[in-house]
Amino acid sequence: MADAVDGVDAIYCPRRTLLDDILLNGAREAGCEVLENFSVTDLVFSEGRVVGVRGREGRGPERDLRAKVVIGADGFHSTVAKRVGARSYNVRPAANFIYYSYYQGLDWGLHHKTGHNLRWIGTWPTNDDLTMLAVICNRSHLKEFRQDPENQFLATFDDVVPDMGKELRSQGQRMEPFRPMRNPDNYYRTAQGPGWALVGDAGYHKDPFTGWGMADAFLHAEMLAARVHEGLSQERDMDEALADYAATRDEESAPVYDFTCTLAELDLPPFYRTVLGAISQDQKWTNTMLGIIAGVVHGDEIFSPEGLQKLYDEVGVPEDERAYDPGA
Ligand SMILES: Cc1cc2nc3c(=O)[nH]c(=O)nc-3n(C[C@H](O)[C@H](O)[C@H](O)COP(=O)(O)OP(=O)(O)OC[C@H]3O[C@@H](n4cnc5c(N)ncnc54)[C@H](O)[C@@H]3O)c2cc1C
Repeated sequence: MADAVDGVDAIYCPRRTLLDDILLNGAREAGCEVLENFSVTDLVFSEGRVVGVRGREGRGPERDLRAKVVIGADGFHSTVAKRVGARSYNVRPAANFIYYSYYQGLDWGLHHKTGHNLRWIGTWPTNDDLTMLAVICNRSHLKEFRQDPENQFLATFDDVVPDMGKELRSQGQRMEPFRPMRNPDNYYRTAQGPGWALVGDAGYHKDPFTGWGMADAFLHAEMLAARVHEGLSQERDMDEALADYAATRDEESAPVYDFTCTLAELDLPPFYRTVLGAISQDQKWTNTMLGIIAGVVHGDEIFSPEGLQKLYDEVGVPEDERAYDPGA
């Protein structure tokens, strides 16, 4: 078990069906007016600014809702991003695809393992005594995978951790259809403009490999809310506050973005091979790495020259095998 941070010493993997309800009720309890089943179809513009949204509840008539600022938190296919013409930048092509589903009969904890053949497996216990199982493979495997997902899924477990493959065949019972997804390219989109801002996948998406999408969406929502508050309370000009959000988002997320895109290639460059190999030899350093992934430990604890030296000293990596430069 990791050390507690702000009283939190565990990680949970709730299904979206539960998590989305928790978030919606949290918003209600915090005083938001929540409209369910309201689809935004367009934005309302006035003199070059976004001044509201247009949409309908269910099949009801279209109506406009006015606002001082409109936040597009509407995911990858964001209507807000499309309507304001948000530009994509720093795009990095997606390396892989994912298949996942939910299983009974497996008493497995959390696993995250990369094999040699550009294949990866992950497992997470979730609600209702189910375990979510996922495989991620390089796109070069997609054609053969599609032809026989069941056997390819099992074969990937056999390939990466043979004992888990055996147990999956004898004990695992798939309870739901496979969910396949060819990951979209990694991207940033312009995060703000006159009267609008984007947050979460609407404005910034990266491969699910490091499981950082929601964590970043929450982090950036908090970052944006603080700036919107400054704008609404007239502590600061709204457009200036939103521009500050965009710059801070890009600056603070850059290392995570680069790390995720690199790891998602499933073929580690020498630097990461050395560092992650060293980390995996020691539980304390593994916990530190998990803390970085959870966003509660600063990346410099490992990925600074001092951090790396301490890691190599403690786990006993010989001087001539140490790596310090991610670009090498
Ligand atoms: C297979 C997979 C595994 C992942 N695993 C993890 C993980 O382990 N950990 C992690 O942190 N992240 C993970 N992610 C990433 C994570 O799911 C996303 O980064 C995160 O959901 C982004 O949140 P969001 O609120 O920006 O967008 P979304 O979760 O996509 O939510 C957007 C919402 O906007 C609504 N919406 C869209 N258009 C409209 C419209 N026109 N009008 C009204 N509503 C609209 C949608 O219905 C939806 O409710 C994973 C992603 C995938 C694909």
